[in-house]
Amino acid sequence: MHLIDGKAIASRLRRSLKDRVQTLKKQPHLVVVLATDHPASLSYVTAKEKAAIEVGFKSRIIKDKFTEASLLKCIDELNQDSEVDGILVQLPLPDGFDQNKVIDRIDPTKDVDGFHPHNLAMLVQDREGFVPATPKGIIRLLKESNIHLKGQHVVIVGRSLIVGKPLIHLLLKENMSVTVAHSKSKDLKALTLPADVLIAAVGVPNLIQPDMVKKGVIIIDVGINRVDGKLVGDVDFEALKDVVEAMTPVPGGVGPMTIYALLENTYEAVLRKEETL
Ligand code: NAP
Repeated sequence: MHLIDGKAIASRLRRSLKDRVQTLKKQPHLVVVLATDHPASLSYVTAKEKAAIEVGFKSRIIKDKFTEASLLKCIDELNQDSEVDGILVQLPLPDGFDQNKVIDRIDPTKDVDGFHPHNLAMLVQDREGFVPATPKGIIRLLKESNIHLKGQHVVIVGRSLIVGKPLIHLLLKENMSVTVAHSKSKDLKALTLPADVLIAAVGVPNLIQPDMVKKGVIIIDVGINRVDGKLVGDVDFEALKDVVEAMTPVPGGVGPMTIYALLENTYEAVLRKEETL
């Protein structure tokens, strides 16, 4: 089995990005807004801020006991601040917040998470916009690993707005045939068995088992699940390692590529502004 080492690939890509950042006229500035006390969210935003600073960005976290109204006001201020290039509001939001209202408020030219309806529409139309970080990172991971995509059959398990749905369009753009499975799919195994490439983005530990895939499949495991204090994916890694041709580990697979894609989006936000000046 070939291990698709997202950690090593992301580290190499960050070094190259750091060089390109030096050639910009303006230092990119990423602001991450956190409205919850959720420990996992706090660790994600801290990792994003650290990676941003490492590649030469300015970055800060705004963490507060927001109400929906004060969060919208904070976004308005960041939209108007010409120093700020990228705004990321960490999801999920506290219970009772209207997620669509919050995302809609972000200036689409600063929406480096790519969830604003403008950017999602651009994605569907194959036009230039911000692509959500995890799907963008997965495509980059596949390409950097020289995995043949054109004409291949990819099966995505999971249809969330964050991962599965944007992937459908990105993988179609790579000329793949795309099948999508979800919790209401009648026979998951029948859908996953023919996959040349399988992408699991579910949130159920060890859901994907050897009898669900064909020999030689390539697996991208997006899942991050905590089991007995340990992080595991959606794929039974140990059981599948003699079946697959290549597979990502958890941790160290898709996670670091998600952070890299966010940095690249922020870099692109500055680049686009400088190119249109
Ligand atoms: P989500 O919003 O909960 O979506 C999960 C998807 O899986 C849904 O489409 C759901 O179907 C489907 N599903 C649930 N149980 C299923 C089953 N038994 N069989 C088939 N499909 C099933 O989750 P998400 O935000 O996409 O995240 C998915 C996983 O990826 C989580 O573990 C998350 O932590 C991880 N993640 C990792 C990264 C990273 O950077 N590595 C980034 C984002 C997310 P329905 O639509 O029918 O409900």
